[in-house]
Amino acid sequence: MTHVITQKCLGERYGDCVAVCPVECIHPIEHEGKPFMIIDPQVCIDCGVCLPECPIGAIVASEGEAPSDAALAASLAPQAVEYEKTHGKAPTRPPNDPPRRPDNKLVR
Ligand code: SF4
Ligand code: SF4
Repeated sequence: MTHVITQKCLGERYGDCVAVCPVECIHPIEHEGKPFMIIDPQVCIDCGVCLPECPIGAIVASEGEAPSDAALAASLAPQAVEYEKTHGKAPTRPPNDPPRRPDNKLVR
């Protein structure tokens, strides 16, 4: 079992989760033409540190809570690792810039 990023994350610009992962297994990718983030299930140690960092609750603690997103992550992880090599890591959210949905509405 590993933590999983769900499609709630689709379109989000910042990777607050990335900055805290101790094994650097959260990688950016484009999915359906939008920014997306993948947890590599082969590398994730299930520490749970990333989960409370996500400002929109896009991370779940087990594959069983989001089976289709877990399958997507498993299939996209190798591509995401390669994508990160050329595009770099997702930046963290700047201070005072509240999270927004892809339609630019504030989340909270
Ligand atoms: S913090 Fe949440 S919204 Fe931001 S990249 Fe990570 S999972 Fe996606
Ligand atoms: S659970 Fe831990 S190891 Fe897995 S992605 Fe989150 S921070 Fe990284």
